[in-house]
Amino acid sequence: MPKYVYDFAEGNKDLKDLLGGKGANLAEMTNLGLPVPPGFTITTEACRAYLLSGTQPEGLEAEITTHLAALEAKMGKRLGQSDDPLLVSVRSGAKHSMPGMMETVLNIGLNDQSVRGLAAQSGSERFAFDSYRRLIQMYGKTVLGIDGEHFAHVLDEAKRAKDTTNDLDLDAEDLRKLVETFKEVIVEHAGRPFPQEPREQMDLAIRAVFESWNTDRAVIYRRQERIPTDLGTAVNVCSMVFGNLGMDSGTGVAFTRDSASGAQGIYGDYLQNAQGEDVVAGIRNTMQLGDLEKIDEKSYHQLLQIMQTLEEHYRDLCDIEFTIERGKLWMLQTRVGKRTAAAAFRIALQLTDQGLITMDEAVSRVSGAQLAHLMFPRFDDSVGRAHGAQRIAVGIAASPGAAVGKVVFDSYTAVKWSRSGESVILVRRETNPDDLNGMIAAAGILTSRGGKTSHAAVVARGMGKTCVCGVEAIDVDTKKRILRASSHGKAIEIHEGDVISIDGTSGEVFLGEVPVVASPVVRYFEGDEDALQDELVAAVDRVMRHADGTRRMSVRANADTPEDAARARRFGAQGIGLCRTEHMFLGERRVLVERLILADTDAEREGALAELLPLQRDDFTGILEAMDGLPVTIRLLDPPLHEFLPDITELSVRVAVAEARGEPRENDLRLLQAVHQMHEQNPMLGLRGVRLGVVIPGLFQMQSRAILEAAAARINAGGVPRVEIMVPLVANVQEFETVKLDIIQVARDVRAETGVHLEFLIGTMIELPRAALTADQIAEPAEFFSFGTNDLTQTTWGFSRDDVEGAFFSAYLEKGIFGISPFESIDVDGVGELIRIAVEKGRSRRPSLKLGVCGEHGGDPDSVHFFEKVGLDYVSCSPFRVPIARLEAGRSVVPD
Ligand code: PEP
Ligand code: MG
Repeated sequence: MPKYVYDFAEGNKDLKDLLGGKGANLAEMTNLGLPVPPGFTITTEACRAYLLSGTQPEGLEAEITTHLAALEAKMGKRLGQSDDPLLVSVRSGAKHSMPGMMETVLNIGLNDQSVRGLAAQSGSERFAFDSYRRLIQMYGKTVLGIDGEHFAHVLDEAKRAKDTTNDLDLDAEDLRKLVETFKEVIVEHAGRPFPQEPREQMDLAIRAVFESWNTDRAVIYRRQERIPTDLGTAVNVCSMVFGNLGMDSGTGVAFTRDSASGAQGIYGDYLQNAQGEDVVAGIRNTMQLGDLEKIDEKSYHQLLQIMQTLEEHYRDLCDIEFTIERGKLWMLQTRVGKRTAAAAFRIALQLTDQGLITMDEAVSRVSGAQLAHLMFPRFDDSVGRAHGAQRIAVGIAASPGAAVGKVVFDSYTAVKWSRSGESVILVRRETNPDDLNGMIAAAGILTSRGGKTSHAAVVARGMGKTCVCGVEAIDVDTKKRILRASSHGKAIEIHEGDVISIDGTSGEVFLGEVPVVASPVVRYFEGDEDALQDELVAAVDRVMRHADGTRRMSVRANADTPEDAARARRFGAQGIGLCRTEHMFLGERRVLVERLILADTDAEREGALAELLPLQRDDFTGILEAMDGLPVTIRLLDPPLHEFLPDITELSVRVAVAEARGEPRENDLRLLQAVHQMHEQNPMLGLRGVRLGVVIPGLFQMQSRAILEAAAARINAGGVPRVEIMVPLVANVQEFETVKLDIIQVARDVRAETGVHLEFLIGTMIELPRAALTADQIAEPAEFFSFGTNDLTQTTWGFSRDDVEGAFFSAYLEKGIFGISPFESIDVDGVGELIRIAVEKGRSRRPSLKLGVCGEHGGDPDSVHFFEKVGLDYVSCSPFRVPIARLEAGRSVVPD
């Protein structure tokens, strides 16, 4: 039979799975010789067994009896003993902290007799009856499931009768009466009296804590925090100590360092003559911990000593709850404390410098998510949010950072105004791919619809752009160009050109300008040496150096322009993992693409391609120059060609209007015909990727020629271009081979024409399940694979991202079908398995096969760890996420 109950002295901090966080740390403190009130912990295993069967597992009751007897012997009094009662608290404590989600009952052991014993022992009748009414109240709510309102109502009545709002004005007699009324509330709502038997009180409280694991709020919290549902909670039964016995008693919280800045010092709050819940409830103002020295010097110095012991022992920031009972200090809880992103970096380095942890550990104690947080510009808190600005709504914090700008309602205006130097916020009901240019031009994006995986949110995060989405309280009228909201109950209208500020970290929207400061961490990544003066930046620098020195995978960037390539390089990119070429066919070049599509003869088509060639060559030359000496993977055209043609409705209207006027335009008519012909039901699965290379004569050849001529030009200019030509959306080896032959022929020609010896690689994206499953065949002709996890996720799940994110992802996330969107973090079991198979098969045929990933997952922390595990050579992500990927690639190889 398993052991279900552990005395505090029997456990330790590494037993969190079994004893929960609180129990494990109480045990650790007990064994460190710190003053912990004696008690015992009932394991999570007992909870799991109870939740499965609905009854206490066999043997648990007897074990509790044994441990209770030992506790009573140690304390020299019995639970609920009428003349001098032992009282206990029954507290939940799961492996992962779930603040306020589960139950606690204090003062167990009080009944109609022992309350008098407690009064005599404490010398305070008021204290005894206050403790008793708290027990009945908590018990009624937690164990008997009575709505807390009923008790609160009675308590309010009692205070009103005394003409006060303060609990402390109720005297012993008032509280005695309150106890009687509370007991009546119990009988009325639970149909049974409050149990007078102390052991029954305790047993039922333990069960209630077990059951609180499955309350709605706990279930929802776990879903949000991605805490597994089947862990269960431990239960801590701890002898009570009282901070509410007078002014020589009190309760407080303390941190060994400032959890906001990381600075060492005395941080915390203390409240005299109070129990723990009074501090949390904020009923009275607390005093700063430092002032405790004046009230109780002995306890204060003992507390400081203990804080030092704990920090050196845990080798990390600890937070602590303590109580002083008539001048005696007791430790009620400790744990490694939560902290801000900035504090995490500072503390990790401070502890390293103190010799408490190694640099490997320092790297493992910070995260890419924290680094991302530090990289966004933010509102200047020193000035204050309210600085001339008025908060008008709160939405979903979709992509962190702070942005201030003039409201614009469409992409065109966003681009136009930003070109003339304005900072703009693009406000839309929701965004779609047509808004991309506007999103790029805007300082921030605000939508009234859509969640964390909406188009706006995903794209903004990828671009490192501030975004607040799903602000349901605003109405976006793009026709009238008005944003309607309300402030302080008054309806307001915001017009195009009005200034708003959005906070992508909190989801807040302000009317007016809130001042913004640039992140010093970004200044440092941009190469600003002065930024290193800042302690935080210096800490980031040291962590990054260590991560870079440790990681096995390299990190590249997805970049399509020389500017992006240069920025990525400054941010530490070791090459380009994906240079998309589709944007090179937009703008003024669209007409050339139209001519290519409409060409009736080889000569016409070749003419269009010949005009595109030098333009493309210049594009590539700039990028190769920015990434000189580093590998640059250039992807041949991927999207369906009709994406470059005018919108069908727009064109139809144009043609109809022209015809009505009797001035038909030949070109538009032909275009419309082409658009109809090329219409696809499912463009994502249509004529795109390698299929274009097979079907459209000369297209991939023109692109390959532009790439290789650019490389030759770079060599002639003394550069070192390292070109990798990548074929998208390959499903089978023959497709790839067909295109590869064409590229090789082009390379021969370019060599002959330029006289330059060119070395380059030809490889493919793996973004279709069939490609992954036949990776051994494809690896024969392909020199590298780059996993296109965006498409691989779409095709593995059988859904199109643009369609499903708005349609049902929020329901899936809400119902817990997805913990996180598979477009954000790699779906290890499905998509991940295909990657694993492709890696294995590919390398089995070609051991030197170069493997990388260029889908958005390349910059996602959890996904980076997965890519390390399956042995990829590099990850590639947007320039802004390069530092995050560098850090996570380092963290993925340091021991936990
Ligand atoms: C991918 O599919 O993962 C990829 C990088 O290609 P795109 O996002 O351009 O389809
Ligand atoms: Mg793709």
